[in-house]
Amino acid sequence: MNNSDHERARELLLLRDVEGVCDSDAAWLASHLAGCAECSSFAEELELTESALRSMPVTAPLSLVSATQAQVRQRVAELRDQEARLFLIGISFCLGLLWSAGSAFVGWKFSGWLAEKIHVAPWIVATGLVVFWLAPAVAIAIGLLAYHPLPSRSRADWLAAHIGEELP
Ligand SMILES: [Zn+2]
Repeated sequence: MNNSDHERARELLLLRDVEGVCDSDAAWLASHLAGCAECSSFAEELELTESALRSMPVTAPLSLVSATQAQVRQRVAELRDQEARLFLIGISFCLGLLWSAGSAFVGWKFSGWLAEKIHVAPWIVATGLVVFWLAPAVAIAIGLLAYHPLPSRSRADWLAAHIGEELP
């Protein structure tokens, strides 16, 4: 037995429980362990360590679990809120398009008639119509800028408060 045999035996021992070894390697390892006290004690220690690691319970503290669950719920609520907003934005966009198309058509017909009727230059009527045409879009933009729903507390404050409740 030389040093490379011991090295190979230890490598095979480490591999055996992770990815497994082929039958010929397993047979070679068994015969080496039967004849080598050093490697067979290494194998025993490895087994003891592995079983100690397996018996160690890995649990998260209750406060962490409930804080994580609460965060996931909050994220779900945020995503649903986002979907609802996208739907409303889509409706607003479609209404805006309808309004623009309709008012442009009516304005085009109306401006010529009105300019003739009230005896003003057509450009004055056209300017007034453009302002009237843009007014809904400007009003909607102002409304969207003014509407900033903020949560009553920031997420970090909320999480800190939640963990604080769970801690003794
Ligand atoms: Zn050995």
